[in-house]
Amino acid sequence: VRPNILTLVPYSSARDEFKGEADIFLDANENSLGSPLTKWYNRYPDPLQWKVKEKLSAIKGIASRHIFLGNGSDECIDVLLRVFCEPAIDNIVIVPPTYGMYEVSAAINNVKVRKVPLTPDFQLDLAGLEKAIDGHTKMIFLCSPNNPTGNSLDRKDVEVLLNNYFGIVVMDEAYINFSRQRSFVPDLPDYPNLVVMQTLSKAWGLAALRLGMAFASQEIISLMNKVKPPYNINQATQDLVLKALDEVGQVNDMIRVLVDERGRLEQELKRLSIVREVYPSDANFLLVKVDNATGTYRKLLDNGIVVRDRSNVILCEGCLRITVGTETENDALLKALIH
Ligand code: PMP
Repeated sequence: VRPNILTLVPYSSARDEFKGEADIFLDANENSLGSPLTKWYNRYPDPLQWKVKEKLSAIKGIASRHIFLGNGSDECIDVLLRVFCEPAIDNIVIVPPTYGMYEVSAAINNVKVRKVPLTPDFQLDLAGLEKAIDGHTKMIFLCSPNNPTGNSLDRKDVEVLLNNYFGIVVMDEAYINFSRQRSFVPDLPDYPNLVVMQTLSKAWGLAALRLGMAFASQEIISLMNKVKPPYNINQATQDLVLKALDEVGQVNDMIRVLVDERGRLEQELKRLSIVREVYPSDANFLLVKVDNATGTYRKLLDNGIVVRDRSNVILCEGCLRITVGTETENDALLKALIH
């Protein structure tokens, strides 16, 4: 933990003491008359989002005190860097090709980044990691299922890392709902150095609301709460998420549809002459190696279809990353690729 964070006195409001229970609130310089929308939005939201956490706790099978909520998991990444890494001194390790924000967020925080590329089959290079880690390596960011490769990391490798590295291991499970592998959330009691991140932006279909989750020991969660902006999850998001979290069944239906479509799209893509390889995916996207990736990317754009050109990313040479869409969207993609 950064020394200044250990001694930091966090921002506090009068409502921390009164737990929000009073008849008249004249403590926070809000507008007591109301708002142009509904009266509700004139008040600051619950800084620790207890109602949302209570529902998430039931869904995820983990107590609320082990949950941190961020304005997207992107905020969780930033808060973790600010809790654990001393700018200009500490470093983090990432395993490219992987999600881009770990590196960007580290750069914003002036934290050095060491890169240990995945093996050619997109798994952890444990020997390489051992060499890269030093006394200033505060965190390792892993992503499983991994973006942009789509595969899950081998569980045993992750366990080796968790047992032998005493810094923080962040396991980004943004795509876990589409995966054949199980989450690391139930393993948290065994690993005090583990932080698992998930998000409502993917399977839950709520990217616009910006709600990311970090699950970890109470100690880590307390540190994250100390560092986050006081009202990081707005009231509209909290209200809508509370409603959405009642619809687990509907979300599971969507996951089934997307996983079926992923299988169909994979098979159909493999039949196309320009497709060299479709990598197995545990996520809601496919990494696809094609002839002339950038040309294909542009051709799709001309057809009004935007995919992600990953052809200049390490180990993804010649690849496009394609999100699994609706049946109609996937058909349009296939048609555009044929012509
Ligand atoms: N992690 C991974 C692996 C992602 O792919 C993304 C979004 N592309 C995020 C985190 C960010 O998610 P959020 O919308 O919760 O900030």
